[in-house]
Amino acid sequence: MIDNRTAPQIWEAALGELQIQVNKPNYHTWLAKTIGLTYLESRFTIGVPSTFVAEYLDKNQRSLIEKALTGIVRREVKIEFLVTESRPAGRGEKAAPPHQASLPLFNPKYTFDSFVVGSCNQMAFSAAQGVVSNPGKTYNPLFIYGGAGLGKTHLLQAIGSSAQANNMKVAYVRAEEYTNQLVIAIKDKKTEEFRNRYRSVDMLLVDDVQFFGGKTQTAENFFHTFDELHNSNRQIALTSDRPPKAIQALEARLSSRFEGGLVTDIETPDFETRLAILKDKAKQKETELSGDVLELIALQIQQNIRALEGSLNRVIAYARLVRSAVTPDLAARALKDIGGDETPAAPVTPKLIMEAVVTNFQLTPSELRGRKRDEITALARQVAMYLIRQETDCSLSEIGQELGGRTPATVSHAYQKIAEDITNSPSLRRKVSKIQQELAAGSHRRKF
Ligand code: ADP
Ligand code: MG
Repeated sequence: MIDNRTAPQIWEAALGELQIQVNKPNYHTWLAKTIGLTYLESRFTIGVPSTFVAEYLDKNQRSLIEKALTGIVRREVKIEFLVTESRPAGRGEKAAPPHQASLPLFNPKYTFDSFVVGSCNQMAFSAAQGVVSNPGKTYNPLFIYGGAGLGKTHLLQAIGSSAQANNMKVAYVRAEEYTNQLVIAIKDKKTEEFRNRYRSVDMLLVDDVQFFGGKTQTAENFFHTFDELHNSNRQIALTSDRPPKAIQALEARLSSRFEGGLVTDIETPDFETRLAILKDKAKQKETELSGDVLELIALQIQQNIRALEGSLNRVIAYARLVRSAVTPDLAARALKDIGGDETPAAPVTPKLIMEAVVTNFQLTPSELRGRKRDEITALARQVAMYLIRQETDCSLSEIGQELGGRTPATVSHAYQKIAEDITNSPSLRRKVSKIQQELAAGSHRRKF
């Protein structure tokens, strides 16, 4: 079989596979900035931003990468790494050295370029760009609200990474994390440090501020952070699932601050925008799908862009599973169980994840949520927490609730532990990626 694809194309496909197999932080740190350089004989050369990355990948992920490539070109491949100065979409600078890892790592997928603009989000998109070109001047704060999965986090992170590229010092935090960090800072008597972390920046981005509703102490603290930044013309941008006034039990002085700049919403996308988004995502995944198939998906999923993308993944995964080309017929079959927007947050929900975890660990749902603490049950529970955090938008406390009333701190700890263990233990990594693949293919239906 002759492979007509170029090395960059093959590598893009391999990255697609690897993205499912390794955890997100790992992927972004080590793989996201690599490129396919050459593919000659059976030798594939991968361009990496630094020797540090080359050494890490060589030591830890060589066989995983070779397997992914072998699967794509259908013959055995050996890899080598070459340190390249420039990156494809880079800014012509050297890659950030590892000691800068404490800077917020924005999801490289969430850029202005990859954001599809339609009438539903045009205003929010322009405002977000305005904030980057004129920080602290035009709209301060910028407040973006809208339903789940409509691109709020995407835009907020696009603001962050663009501002960072302009050498601004940016802090990005989810309101829930801000709350948890404050609680810990108070407990550890480190409030001064906490203060400085958020009051020393040029731009503060807070995601999901509806979470401040009813949290009196945090809201009070955030109020002061807000004022200090705002008074010195530093840019603030906020997102929320509802407008400021509708955030329950939020002090009036805070909601009026939130309204003091520009408040703009993102609406659900119309059919054309949904189709444009699907085309774009299919292109990114290097998958050729016919117009019919894309229209079918766009018709079925209307409320949520994450679900739209999830359905696309599901169709692609299903096609791979049955080893067949994607026809409208096959797409319809793959989407059958989803039933359009009736199933909230399709395709992957905490319930489906827990279902997949108990099946793979041979436990029952009540064991997973219960108090048993033997090694297997504890590990399964941590994997479930990790996957829910990774695959859904649930907050730490929501995840804790799903798993039988664990605290956000427990969930956060579990997440970090599994994220780390997964890089060290190939067997755990395999187990987790198997669950992720089953989820993408939709093989678990709810039993909870
Ligand atoms: P929210 O924060 O509003 O819940 P996200 O920003 O997390 O939603 O978006 C959910 C998913 O949909 C992300 O993968 C995001 O990249 C994608 N997405 C949302 N809006 C768009 C858009 N206009 N163009 C491309 N992708 C989008
Ligand atoms: Mg979000």
